[in-house]
Amino acid sequence: MAAKQNQRLVIGMMDGMGMPVYRASRMPILNRMEREGNLFRTVRGIFPSVTNVNNVSIACGSWPAEHGITANSYFDPELGLAVYMNDARLIRVKTVFQRAAEWGIKSALLTSKKKTAELFRSGTEICLAAEAPDAAFLFTADHGMNNKKRAYDLEKVREIITGLEGVERVMDSGDAAEEFHTDASRIGDLVVFGDIDTMFGQMDHPMEALSDTYRAHGSMHEMELPLIIYNYDPPLPRREFFNNNLDLTRFLFRV
Ligand SMILES: [Zn+2]
Repeated sequence: MAAKQNQRLVIGMMDGMGMPVYRASRMPILNRMEREGNLFRTVRGIFPSVTNVNNVSIACGSWPAEHGITANSYFDPELGLAVYMNDARLIRVKTVFQRAAEWGIKSALLTSKKKTAELFRSGTEICLAAEAPDAAFLFTADHGMNNKKRAYDLEKVREIITGLEGVERVMDSGDAAEEFHTDASRIGDLVVFGDIDTMFGQMDHPMEALSDTYRAHGSMHEMELPLIIYNYDPPLPRREFFNNNLDLTRFLFRV
């Protein structure tokens, strides 16, 4: 790894920490790392702006087209079912934990979510004290959050998709795979983009109005994220290298 000999490396992924939330939150330690660290940059998340896609992209330093996690769940045509993408066997490339193990580096995974442990257990060794004072800190986020005002049923969307209020864009899977570096065989035939107020789901009614406090993500409007590197012993790649949240770990794989 690029870190200096024996320097511990802490890679943080903050769930839902888009730039507006980050700026509105009182976080003196992160703010100090931002001011005094090696690098601060506003970067883009990976589309769709959901947890598994971004979490795996960060953990693998690669795009969905390479690692294969294209959504939180996908429709498996052979099974005829929606399959949750929480299974480590769906990841096609090595994670930072597996790569570390190959290099003889012990790694620990600290997470609040069970699905994260299911995805990334392989390659990890032991638990690590989070306060380790000699650690370098690398932080980014998976997606932002917005208040959503309405939700559409997916079947209804198929019928009336074009011109529907709240639908920003419709693409076929091939074009979407190319533009968003994802895998056409693991996404639907159509990729439908909701605007900032709109989300999709499987519901009892064609459309539901959501309360003012309802928060969600998944659109192009939750993809602006902070990226912070603090106390990392240089050299780092140039600032311009860090454009997406996955670049937080991508440079480690290139060494
Ligand atoms: Zn999330």
